[in-house]
This record gives sequence, C-alpha cells and structure tokens, in this order.
Amino acid sequence: MRITTLCGGVGAARMLRALLTEFPDAEHVAIVNTADDDVIGGLSISPDIDTVMYTLAGANDDERGWGLAGESWQAMEWLRRYTNSSGRHDLSWFNLGDRDLGTHLYRTSRLAEGAPLSEVTAEMVAAWGLPLLLLPVTDDPIATVLRTDRGDLAFQEYFVREQHAVEVTGVRVEGADSADPAPGVLNAIETADVVVVAPSNPIVSIGPLLAVPGIRSAVAARRSAVVAVSPIIGGKALKGPADRLLSELGHETSAVGVASIYADLAGTLVIDEIDTPLIHQVEALGLRCVATPTIMSQPGVSASLARAVIEAAL
Ligand code: GDP
Ligand code: CA
Repeated sequence: MRITTLCGGVGAARMLRALLTEFPDAEHVAIVNTADDDVIGGLSISPDIDTVMYTLAGANDDERGWGLAGESWQAMEWLRRYTNSSGRHDLSWFNLGDRDLGTHLYRTSRLAEGAPLSEVTAEMVAAWGLPLLLLPVTDDPIATVLRTDRGDLAFQEYFVREQHAVEVTGVRVEGADSADPAPGVLNAIETADVVVVAPSNPIVSIGPLLAVPGIRSAVAARRSAVVAVSPIIGGKALKGPADRLLSELGHETSAVGVASIYADLAGTLVIDEIDTPLIHQVEALGLRCVATPTIMSQPGVSASLARAVIEAAL
C-alpha cells in the first residue's frame, strides 16, 4: 500500500507519525509545503520540512512546537550582542537553537552549491534514517505573502514576528505560477492507494501546496481516494491562526468551512467527534464524513485516527 500525505507542519507531522506507526509496511510519501520557507540571517529555513523531519525522528520539542528537543541558545545570545548594540540588523525575532543551526548550515550550504531542495531534503532524511520519501512540494522558491493593514508581510514576519495577531485581508503565493512540482510529487499522488490531506492549515499550509501548477488537478483526479482531516475542532484550531484566517478570509470557522474548501478534492472529510452534529452539513457539500477523536496528543487517538483515515479510503 502506498500512502501519500499532503503536509504542513505540526498537524501533518503528528498525522504522519501516526500513519507510519500504524502502517509500518506501507510505502509513505510526504509532500510538504515550502511556502513558509525564507532566507533569514543568510540561512535557508524550511520550517515545515524540519517540523516533519524532527517529529518523525522523535527529536522535536513537543512543548515549544518547533525545533529540536534539548536545545541551547548560545548562538542567538551572541547574535543579540551585535544586533542590540547596533540597533540595526535585528534578527532576534527569529530564533534558531544551536543544534538547529547545524541543520540550517547544512541546508544552506548545499543549496548554495546548487543542489535542489528535494535532493538536500533526501540527504537529511537519510541521515535521520527515516522510512519515508519526504518531498518538498517544489524545488522552486514559493512564498506565502499576507496582505494586512500594515502592508504585505512575509510568512515568517506574520507568523513569528507578529505572532499572527494582525488581521489578514488576502493571501497570495509568490512564485507559485511558475513553479514546477518537485520530482516524484505528481507520481506519488497518481499512484497512491490513499492520499491523506493532513490536519494542517488549509489557507497557509495546504493552500500553497495546491497552488503549484498540476497538483490541485492531480489530487482532484484521485478524489475518491483522498481523505482530509479537519484541523478545526469545535470551531477552533488547536494552535496557530487557522481559525482566524478562515474567518478573516470569509470562510465558515468550522469543519464545514474546511469541507467547503476541500469539497472538489477530497471524497471524505474526517472531523472530530465533538463536531458530530456537523456531519449532515459536511455531507450536504458532497463529501463523505467520518467523526472520530482527532486530537493526537491524547492517548490512543493517533492510532485510531490513522486507522480511521485509511479505512475511509479503502
Ligand atoms: P504549522 O505549519 O506548524 O502551523 O502546522 P500545520 O499547518 O500542519 O498545522 C496547523 C494546524 O494543525 C492547526 O490548525 C491545528 O489545529 C492542527 N492540528 C495540530 N495538531 C492536531 C491534531 O492532533 N489533530 C487535529 N485534528 N488537528 C491538529
Ligand atoms: Ca507551516
């Protein structure tokens, strides 16, 4: 069995960890959003790739929600010595731990040598010994830009510097129109037995991934094998701005809003048991709907959710 999962960061990493644990004999492919990527302080950052990689390796910091466990922050302290005294070149809003810097030195130097992100990512995944194919959605630069009343913000400015506490009136993905799917991406969608849309942010994680030409239509062509999991539970995101972005951009802030965004792509939407009363509204949009516990930090839920997702497609 081949399982291909469309991924953002944290929600996707938890979903993938569950799928890998419950279906160890399946062939797993993760297609990961790269529109959060940027160059900050000269370093090439790929936050969603790192979240997935670190989580599957069991090396992530669960509580902080990003980066590596057991981190120290000496390089950042040293950086602030310079930026605080000059008052210029302020990079201190973006933190990278000392261990994490190793990852970033590797990625940055390999990209600078001309290696495509997919190749660099494969090298890093091999170094961690992870049993999956982890593909950036594209090797071309794409970047989510958020329109706000303070002007356009790059994704990390919005998410990290402003802590997503600004109103967003529009989202665009720069570079998407001229990007190509990374090698293997379309094939992984076309040949999967199940395509999982992870419980990631539909606007800024899954949206940019679908904006790369060819991907939306490839997923839509597999609609009956596509199972999406709602990141919205009881009208709220577990963490992050997904609920707020949905409402700011005119969507219903609920699993029904998620269903309407995915209606032409996914045959089935898995929603949280707490949203069971919404099943009929989801079905009215033309999706099959399964309600089950989906909060994967709760004991036993990851395993049951992974099984429910795969059963829904087979
Ligand atoms: P980011 O790139 O790190 O912001 O992460 P994603 O886009 O992958 O995921 C953010 C979304 O994941 C949030 O809307 C959360 O509600 C959702 N999420 C995180 N963990 C879980 C979980 O255990 N279950 C469900 N259903 N959603 C989750
Ligand atoms: Ca992300």
